[in-house]
Amino acid sequence: MNENEQPVHPAPLAGAPRAIILFGPPGSGKGTQAKLLKESLSVPHISTGDMLRERIASGDPLGLEVQALMQAGKLVPDETVNRLVHERVRAKDCAGGFVLDGYPRTIPQAKVLEAELLRLGYQPVVIHLKVDYTKIIARIAGRRQCPVCGSLYNLTSHPPKQPELCDLDGARLMVRDDDREQVVRARLEAYERQTQPLLEFFAASGRPFHEVDGNDGSPTAILERVRALLG
Ligand code: AMP
Repeated sequence: MNENEQPVHPAPLAGAPRAIILFGPPGSGKGTQAKLLKESLSVPHISTGDMLRERIASGDPLGLEVQALMQAGKLVPDETVNRLVHERVRAKDCAGGFVLDGYPRTIPQAKVLEAELLRLGYQPVVIHLKVDYTKIIARIAGRRQCPVCGSLYNLTSHPPKQPELCDLDGARLMVRDDDREQVVRARLEAYERQTQPLLEFFAASGRPFHEVDGNDGSPTAILERVRALLG
């Protein structure tokens, strides 16, 4: 499938399983919300960032290909992520719907996804997490991740019980390579230039599109806002 391919089926009927697209800048809390939604709706969480990091960690050729781009805060090629998502959404566990986190990030990706969801009979719902840039920079600076189980922490808003250790498995927490300041700036620049234009694309698509204030409140309070919109 390529980005110019047109949808071949009519829009899915109401009641079709939902593809929840979590949209927002790096540091907006997409990853945290996606994990909470996964638990509360019992649907898979599909994070292209996690999928790519797994490929890097396992030394897979695709991982080697994308490593330098990710470390520089740049987006990896559309075809690469489109292929990963194409395979993942066909897995059996996605039949009841799923949450997309960090995909689509460009207009070509959004067009491919739109056609894919129509073809497979999913109803897309976009949730835009809105957060101020000053908050984003502060959040990313305090972000830590467990290298073993992937749990996310924040030194100010969600610290681990023991400094720098994962609550679940005791592993030493890490700063993601791409959370370092210079890289964060590059990621925000990529967001503004390549990803933000998607807001107009989503608005014009006529698909359900909701904005959620992600500035204040605990992750569970924000989850409640998201759940209220999802109905
Ligand atoms: P994330 O964990 O979603 O912040 O993604 C981390 C990095 O993975 C990004 O900065 C990109 O280098 C790459 N990445 C993840 N998802 C995509 C995507 N949809 N398109 C292009 N690059 C991506």
